Order: sequence, then structure tokens, then C-alpha cells
Amino acid sequence: SLSQLPADAPVGRVGNGFSPYAGCTRFDQLPLSQKTKDGLRESKYVEMTDIQRASLPHSLCGRDILGAAKTGSGKTLAFLIPVVEKLYRARWGPEDGVGSIIISPTRELAGQLFDVLKSVGKHHGFSAGLLIGGRKDVDMEKEHVNDLNILICTPGRLLQHMDETPNFDCSQLQVLVLDEADRILDVGFKKALNAIVSQLPKHRQTFLFSATQTKSVQDLARLSLKDPEYLSVHEES
Ligand code: ADP
Ligand code: MG
Repeated sequence: SLSQLPADAPVGRVGNGFSPYAGCTRFDQLPLSQKTKDGLRESKYVEMTDIQRASLPHSLCGRDILGAAKTGSGKTLAFLIPVVEKLYRARWGPEDGVGSIIISPTRELAGQLFDVLKSVGKHHGFSAGLLIGGRKDVDMEKEHVNDLNILICTPGRLLQHMDETPNFDCSQLQVLVLDEADRILDVGFKKALNAIVSQLPKHRQTFLFSATQTKSVQDLARLSLKDPEYLSVHEES
């Protein structure tokens, strides 16, 4: 809650839900698995950024998040950490299939997410795959996509698997992430996103992060989030 954050915290709004972790400033104060704590420490992440401090106390309590913070503010860890923790707490294993889908606007950004996941999640046993367009091995991907626990994808490629891959199964999905949602919508993926979200199980946790709050981001939030914590973080000027 608001009163638990330091008075000088440059946080626009910290949401209404209570979290016992609202005052934390370092990753090692959060209720994280030892595997995640070790991955963060070895990757040299110690202090949380503002969007991480604002959102992790809520996302780790199972809530949906609508997070807005400018480019470079650390949104990636704000969703990768709760994705990994959710699957870890559920004792997700190789035979459980797709537990999380993370959607990114471009191949390049998806590749960067994959690298951060490999580094921070390296002590966990989850399998992760990068499903992005422009690669020729889509047929090989189709055979293996159900064996992956975490999918990092561009919207077009994910929809291609939903449409074409026999037995593509995301019925057990636990967490959906829409990263850089404003950019996903800018590059014309609104229809693809609506088609994707409509095919996913409704009982799930969802994180929507964006650099800006536009009308179309709010439309997408209405469609994909359930009673979210709204966290808008901006710099003090
Ligand atoms: P955004 O998605 O908001 O644009 P990123 O998640 O890509 O931001 O992070 C921007 C940069 O900040 C990256 O180089 C990342 O490694 C770094 N970073 C993120 N969180 C932290 C942190 N808690 N401590 C130090 N550096 C961080
Ligand atoms: Mg980002």
C-alpha cells in the first residue's frame, strides 16, 4: 500500500491492493526462490528499479498488472521474475508443457528477453523457446513447441503456430505477458493479439507492460486483464 513506500519514492501510483512486500527496495527482500535469487545476484541485479519496486510486490501475490514506465526503466525483470516464480511454485516440469507465453513486438526485442531469461533463470530447469518470424525451421519448431515451458514470441509467429501446428497446446497456460504493448499495437498487430488472447485459457495471470498509455493499450488491457493493479511510474522532475 501507499503508506509502506518511502515518502520520496518517485512512483506515480502504487495501486490499491495490499502487499506485505510494498516497502522492499532490493530483490533479496522479496519472497523469491533461492534459484531466482542466485540468478539475479550472479547477473549483478541487487537494487530494484522503480517499476520493479512498484509491480513485483503485487505480481508475486498473483495479481494482474498494467504497468507503464518509460524505455530503459527495467520492465523486463518486472515480468520475467514473476513468470519464473509462478511456474516454480506450481512445480512446473518438462511434461507440463506451455506454462507461459511472452509476446514481444519485434524479433530483436524477443531475442533480448530470451537472453535475460537465460541469465536470470539459469538455475531453474525450465525449457524456453524463441518463436519469431523469418526463420526457416518452422517445421522443426512445430514438433517441439509443446515441449517448451516458456514461449517468447512475436505475435505473427505465435498465431501461425496456433493456426497450423497440430496439437499446439496452451490449455494449461499460467501466465501471459504482453511486453511493449504500445509498440505491438503500433506495428499493426491488434487483430493478431485479439485472436491470440481469445484462444487462451481465461484462468491465468496476465502482465501488460507498455512505455506509454494510449487508448489502444487501454482497450487491450480491458480485453486481457482481470482487476489489474495499475502502476504508472515516472520520473520526478
Ligand atoms: P525497459 O523494458 O523498461 O525498456 P529493460 O528491462 O530492457 O527496460 O532494462 C533496461 C536496462 O536496465 C537493461 O540494461 C537492464 O539490464 C537494466 N536493469 C534492469 N533492471 C535493473 C536493476 N534492478 N538493476 C540494475 N540494472 C537493471
Ligand atoms: Mg522492454
